[in-house]
Amino acid sequence: MKSVAPTVSVVLGLDRPAAAADDPIAPIAVNLAGSRHLAILAPDALGLHPWRLWKHKMPFLFSLHKKKSILLEAIMPSNTPVNFACMLTGAELAVHGMQTREMDFKCETIFDVVRRAGGKSAGAGQKGKTAGLLLGRCADFAWISTDDWHPAAISCLVLEGFEREVPMFMIVQYASVDSFFHKYGPSNPAVVPILEEMDLSLQELVPRLSGAGVDVIILADHGQHDIPDPVPGGNRGTHSTDCPEDRLVPCTWVKRR
Ligand SMILES: [Zn+2]
Repeated sequence: MKSVAPTVSVVLGLDRPAAAADDPIAPIAVNLAGSRHLAILAPDALGLHPWRLWKHKMPFLFSLHKKKSILLEAIMPSNTPVNFACMLTGAELAVHGMQTREMDFKCETIFDVVRRAGGKSAGAGQKGKTAGLLLGRCADFAWISTDDWHPAAISCLVLEGFEREVPMFMIVQYASVDSFFHKYGPSNPAVVPILEEMDLSLQELVPRLSGAGVDVIILADHGQHDIPDPVPGGNRGTHSTDCPEDRLVPCTWVKRR
């Protein structure tokens, strides 16, 4: 996960955020070199464990992974604000300081380096989630859905925002995938409808972005595992631990056309 910020910086021709020490992800850096606009699309919690189980239910995303696919590792604790902050800074929690979504960054972010280069950034997703409380708060533009959590609604907001002005950098959280995994457990077939919906909204959004000259990276902030002995009526999926199900996330990307 710490390689994401250096990768975004190098493809956009920017300085990397000051605390980002890892190398860029070589195949993405080579393939997307010379980018002028880049979007990170993050289906929250779509880690390797549910991906292996349900990728055949996501034919669009699966088709992208058949062409380009790598595995990344979430930092600890494997939760949402910590790992979105890592994507934006290239740093561990002890350095970026985003323990919760309402805190301020303790180090430089991609938003800062984009601003320094005269560019704009956008944070998109759902109100009350990391998108609204962290991404939209710290980016130049906040494309935040107040009442509709569906992936299609989030993608629609991105398209509307992007028709007004195409920022240099966009980061989008689809929080509903994480919510469904918590409720049903990531290996429960009850999560398939949200994954199908997620796939359709990516199928709508990604070609529109790439056709407009935007490079796209799709990854999750962390994964989830099934709770072995769930309390009746309680959550059946969780994350934040140091296990492969929580930490390993697939990543793919699409070059601008
Ligand atoms: Zn979660």
